[in-house]
Amino acid sequence: MNRIGLGYDIHRVVPGRPMILGGVDIPCPVGPLGHSDSDVLLHALMDSLLGAAALGDIGQHFPPTDPRYAGISSLELLRSVVGLVSAAGFRVENVDMVLVAEQPKLAPYAETIRETVAEVLSVPVSRVSVKATSNEGVGPEGRGEAISAQAVALLRGQP
Ligand code: MG
Repeated sequence: MNRIGLGYDIHRVVPGRPMILGGVDIPCPVGPLGHSDSDVLLHALMDSLLGAAALGDIGQHFPPTDPRYAGISSLELLRSVVGLVSAAGFRVENVDMVLVAEQPKLAPYAETIRETVAEVLSVPVSRVSVKATSNEGVGPEGRGEAISAQAVALLRGQP
């Protein structure tokens, strides 16, 4: 049986913080504030995977109050989420992510992000999509105050 899940995340951005998106370190004058590496793409992706398996959300599995998760790579958290999802009897069919940000431009890094995510999900790159849009100058993303991401995941139940 197939299951679909949705994920969303938003982080404020400030000058001088690393910009890590989809597990890839991207040169950028601003970066997201947060407890972990604040990788909005992977945070949205993890919530979509957990949502599809009805396993709660990342705040529940990796509480921001827990010092074990301070500064942790979201790729490590994604590995844990994949473990939870497969323990529940699912495998990933495909995922799709969209970044909403005025900067950085994602296109030059999209292939590296797809490869990085596909490796952790143990799926071919053709099953991982990432894209980006600006917010046309409006809203917190458009004003450059924040970046956000949305993701959907389709899981297939193992017979
Ligand atoms: Mg987050």
